[in-house]
Amino acid sequence: MKTAIGTAADGHATEGMPFDVERVRADFPILSRLVNGKPLVYLDSAATTQKPYAVIDAIVRYYTESNANVHRGVHKLSVAATELYEGAREKSRAFLGARSTKEIIFVRGTTEGVNLVAQSWGRNRLAAKDEVLVTGMEHHSNIVPWQLLCEQTGAQLRVLPIDDRGDLRMDQLDRVLTERTKLVAVSHISNALGTIAPLEEITSRAHAVGALVVVDGAQAAGHMPVDVTALDCDFYTISGHKMFGPTGIGVLYGKEKHLEAMPPWQGGGDMIKSVSFEKTVYNDLPYKFEAGTPDIAGVVGLGAAIDYLESIGRRNAAWHEAQLLEYGTEILSRVEGLRLIGTSAMKAGVLSFTLDGIHPHDAGTVLDHEGIAVRTGHHCAQPVMTHFAVPATTRASLSIYNRREDLDALARGLHKVREILG
Ligand code: PMP
Repeated sequence: MKTAIGTAADGHATEGMPFDVERVRADFPILSRLVNGKPLVYLDSAATTQKPYAVIDAIVRYYTESNANVHRGVHKLSVAATELYEGAREKSRAFLGARSTKEIIFVRGTTEGVNLVAQSWGRNRLAAKDEVLVTGMEHHSNIVPWQLLCEQTGAQLRVLPIDDRGDLRMDQLDRVLTERTKLVAVSHISNALGTIAPLEEITSRAHAVGALVVVDGAQAAGHMPVDVTALDCDFYTISGHKMFGPTGIGVLYGKEKHLEAMPPWQGGGDMIKSVSFEKTVYNDLPYKFEAGTPDIAGVVGLGAAIDYLESIGRRNAAWHEAQLLEYGTEILSRVEGLRLIGTSAMKAGVLSFTLDGIHPHDAGTVLDHEGIAVRTGHHCAQPVMTHFAVPATTRASLSIYNRREDLDALARGLHKVREILG
């Protein structure tokens, strides 16, 4: 098949040739292992992605050649570690389309990014008359930090509901987004449904009532181009491990003017200019928000993951996954008693479903025997499960290294589930 997107001599994508998924797969050592004696079929990338050699090697190289603490020493290793660390900040800035590296804060992941904004931005700003708006498709990490903030400040949590396809009820936005709304927290892509939020519209309507917008980009950054400046959101947060990087590292983007006005979240080394018992002067951005020795190896790995993903091309990744999603939707529709949960027309590579009369955990166990890794449960999105009146779903989620054969294996596995479990 000739397409607009394809693969260059180095194996990565260019215009005009097919996307070479086998070449991409060869970059991921874990994909060649057996699970329960069967070739691994990894369909759980929404939980965490696998890691390419480029990332694994960068971390080993860092510890082998450059390990030292950052921002602290004049010795050669410390300078090398600092250069790698700050180099990854610049890569993250370019990756997200931020204007300045002052706007790039390294955090543990999306969860920490959201909590940082809730506490540092919200704690001293919100009062009883104020409201925070979330949506019906949020992950718990974009709900609970706002509930904590509401408990602390007396503000109210409002919810923009979803419909039965899993789309946001934009027709209800005027009802829940008012002059009282101080902040809107929304995921770019739902991990439980795959729905892609209409962020431009939400952001412009939120700004029109004077509310800020926090975007949970955990499921977007590894799958599609993201440009925070074009989106005009106020904060955007991502997790490295969902975009081929290590666990325990992520980025919080915030507009400089907001970050400048926010107090530090944690105190400690590196976030200060000077300390005395009378008065401590905080460091400039972004260091004001990075107290203590950071996850340097994690940041190095994140930088390598960004380079890797850019070498594939995020448009190419999105295109490849869209083809797979279409194929997967079609073949799953032929499985008896399968109900797809999340059928938005604007959807990323998530296939969440239930099987009549079969508990997702049982289905997941049978699939695991076949070497197929899927996620079963509520996906940390219990309000989504409540909306669809199901306790849990089985979720197959896609990435650049998946191929049609993986979805064929899933469909065969589901027929086996039917045979065994009824
Ligand atoms: N938001 C969404 C949409 C997610 O899918 C996840 C991870 N499942 C998170 C937030 C939390 O990310 P992390 O655990 O990396 O902080």
